Amino acid sequence: MSIQRRGLMLVLSSPSGAGKTTISRLLLDQDPDITMSVSVTTRPPRPGEVEGKDYYFVDHARFDRMVEEGALLEHARVFGNMYGTPSQPVFAALEAGRDVLFDIDWQGTQQLSGKARTDVVRIFILPPSTEELEKRLRTRAQDSDEVVAARMAKASEEMSHWAEYDYVVVNVDVEESLAKVKAILAAERARRERQVGMAEFVNRLRGVD
Ligand code: 5GP
Repeated sequence: MSIQRRGLMLVLSSPSGAGKTTISRLLLDQDPDITMSVSVTTRPPRPGEVEGKDYYFVDHARFDRMVEEGALLEHARVFGNMYGTPSQPVFAALEAGRDVLFDIDWQGTQQLSGKARTDVVRIFILPPSTEELEKRLRTRAQDSDEVVAARMAKASEEMSHWAEYDYVVVNVDVEESLAKVKAILAAERARRERQVGMAEFVNRLRGVD
């Protein structure tokens, strides 16, 4: 038995180093009904990053063209680089009744909310403390000291937007945070207005048409 459901857009935002990427990966591994939105960026790839999986890496000319053609659902400058969400894969997933996970910043979240408010569910992930945030940024090792310092400074600015989100999760323990995100997703999927096939299902249950 399957009841037709409208897909939702699950946004996870946080300052860099709060654990959002780990939570996203675990969620994607464990839930076959949600798919990741792969962004385009002008940032150069980090070691180990895979084209088409982590990002689509593009130059500025290509990025500007995508903006002009209206191919991006939202876009923003973050840490001096451009980032954007290609629209087409998102619409395709939603139409197929699948949910889409977004790892985007507060600017992108605002734009997405402006375009599709009822389809967007926003979660903000916070680190448990400033010390922990800095520790996590340092142990990543892939970023230079300069980048780490810049991200610590940016973290405060990013965190000031916490109140624009529907849910806030303080990431003390990854498994616990993952459980919270899954619970939010389960509840949001069960919202009456997203269950577009429910009226028909209930009519069948009641024996009316
Ligand atoms: P990073 O360079 O570490 O992968 O990402 C830096 C920041 O850019 C993160 O906060 C991430 O959420 C944000 N970001 C990644 N992709 C997008 C996007 O498509 N749109 C927006 N607005 N932000 C993004």
